[in-house]
Amino acid sequence: MSRPFTVGQETTHLVGDPECPECLEEYPEGCRCGGLIHAASGESDSEGDEVPITVCDQCGRAEEEAFSLEA
Ligand SMILES: [Zn+2]
Ligand SMILES: [Zn+2]
Repeated sequence: MSRPFTVGQETTHLVGDPECPECLEEYPEGCRCGGLIHAASGESDSEGDEVPITVCDQCGRAEEEAFSLEA
């Protein structure tokens, strides 16, 4: 029943699946909207650290946005 969902270059994340097989370890995480924040491996930043791409499957926010807003 799960719909596929795209995170970064990965098109096979599953909406609403708390054990999404495509997510990085420790994801998906619960979003403040009630959806799930999925994570895909992203690009390296200028210091060479890999920055995951995160997107909520309900509101579409990245993890930083979802948790930096006032409640
Ligand atoms: Zn996922
Ligand atoms: Zn959300």
